[in-house]
Amino acid sequence: MNFCSDCGSKVSLQAIVGDNRQRFVCDDCGKTHYQNPNVLVATYVCVGESILWIKRGTAPAVGKWAMPGGYMENDETPEAGASRELREETGIDVPADKMMLVSVSSILHMAQTHLVFRCHLEHRPDTAPTEEAIEFGWFDEEGLPWEDLAFASIEPHVRQVYGWLKEGNYGIRVGFIDEHGSQYRNFPLK
Ligand SMILES: [Zn+2]
Repeated sequence: MNFCSDCGSKVSLQAIVGDNRQRFVCDDCGKTHYQNPNVLVATYVCVGESILWIKRGTAPAVGKWAMPGGYMENDETPEAGASRELREETGIDVPADKMMLVSVSSILHMAQTHLVFRCHLEHRPDTAPTEEAIEFGWFDEEGLPWEDLAFASIEPHVRQVYGWLKEGNYGIRVGFIDEHGSQYRNFPLK
């Protein structure tokens, strides 16, 4: 960052007593600006062995397939955020208490933490295209256009979830991606 969000003056990186890294401090008013990861939430909407994918209408990765999701808001829980994003992007109403955690992913080089949920529906609900989701696809593992995923790095993650769907047996996937690769561990639910 370059300028203070409080007074508009220049900021500079400075060591802070008692802190383990440098922070942006305003040269004028002295405010310390902390930078922390953003939390994103996303949902695998599952019907049988199919998962709902949206063709993205907004940058990045316009025209590529992704799960519905987005940034958490300040006044909501992660599962409520996942429920809201799903409703906004697809029109599908799944209450927050039907969202089950499936992964905690740290995208270290982008300072993002992704909390991903799954929910299971009996039938494929109606969907109406939105600005963010211009098309919908219910794909099983074989039918998913893998070469057109919005974010190629999530492929192992998606394959794991399809595997769990087939087995009817789930875990929680925890790990990270950085510019060198990824490392994950699966924690079985029972
Ligand atoms: Zn300032």
